[in-house]
Amino acid sequence: RAKKEGPGVSRSYTPEMDKKLRERRSMRRELASAIERGELVVFYQPQAEIAGKITGFEALLRWRHPTRGWVSPGTFIPLAEESRLIVPIGEWVLREVCREAASWPLPLGVAVNLSPVQFQHSDLPGLIRSILLETGLASNQLELEITEGVLMDDSGRIASILREVKALGVRIAMDDFGSGYSSLSYLQSFPFDKIKIDRTFVTKIEDNPQSAAIVRAVLGLAHGLRLPVLAEGVETEEELAFLAREGCDHVQGYYIGRPLPIAEYAGVVGRI
Ligand code: C2E
Ligand code: MG
Ligand code: MG
Ligand code: MG
Repeated sequence: RAKKEGPGVSRSYTPEMDKKLRERRSMRRELASAIERGELVVFYQPQAEIAGKITGFEALLRWRHPTRGWVSPGTFIPLAEESRLIVPIGEWVLREVCREAASWPLPLGVAVNLSPVQFQHSDLPGLIRSILLETGLASNQLELEITEGVLMDDSGRIASILREVKALGVRIAMDDFGSGYSSLSYLQSFPFDKIKIDRTFVTKIEDNPQSAAIVRAVLGLAHGLRLPVLAEGVETEEELAFLAREGCDHVQGYYIGRPLPIAEYAGVVGRI
């Protein structure tokens, strides 16, 4: 409970914080019914070869709240993780995205983000396998993106889950590389197929020698391990040109295309 302010009383707990907490609590409650109410929507952002050819999309979740409007995953995914609602939500996203991608005339790739909490699911490889069977999506069209948060848990257990997932023919990408506590040893211990460089290193890369040095180092490291690299958050022609000169393999960002409902990319998926 909030304390009354007065001499010597801690100010660490303010009425504004109380309001925020209540806000979060009600959002969490509303999120619990968001799936059945049809409020969750998947947007798709193109991923391209550096030369420009679109090879697939990343699925990015949005919450269309009846009164709050569009809520970004940066806000509601942490709430969903705290309450473990991310397990049913993550399963819904996976099924929805696989069903969608299976309907595309062109066999483009699709990448789905997985939360660390989903790895506590009793049988993640089994779930993925049954969703692939049920939707008819070819396993080599599906890529799963994980962050270092997944890898920090119990590395032996996680590595064996990832190997089972890969045995299905599904690819694994390391997301947001370089942003958190990503350790170089992760690259050796886990069977990645791709590294995604965090967007913080891509912003204004042509004017920022520090970012350029980091991106060069990641490219050298990844290519030494025979792993392709995707740069996230490419917003300008200058950034794209710089990444091309440095030998980056794939790109994603507003310059290539924004996350949008798939109908906006009907031509790309061959539905015209
Ligand atoms: P992420 O997986 O690293 O996704 C990339 C984020 O960067 C997305 O934010 C995307 O909209 C944004 N982005 C892409 N290109 C640009 C650009 O050129 N400039 C800028 N400034 N931003 C760009 P978004 O959609 O808000 O998602 C944020 C995070 O939420 C994602 O980061 C991912 O970690 C998480 N997330 C989204 N959907 C899901 C989901 O279905 N499941 C889980 N577990 N997490 C999700
Ligand atoms: Mg991602
Ligand atoms: Mg990312
Ligand atoms: Mg991110």
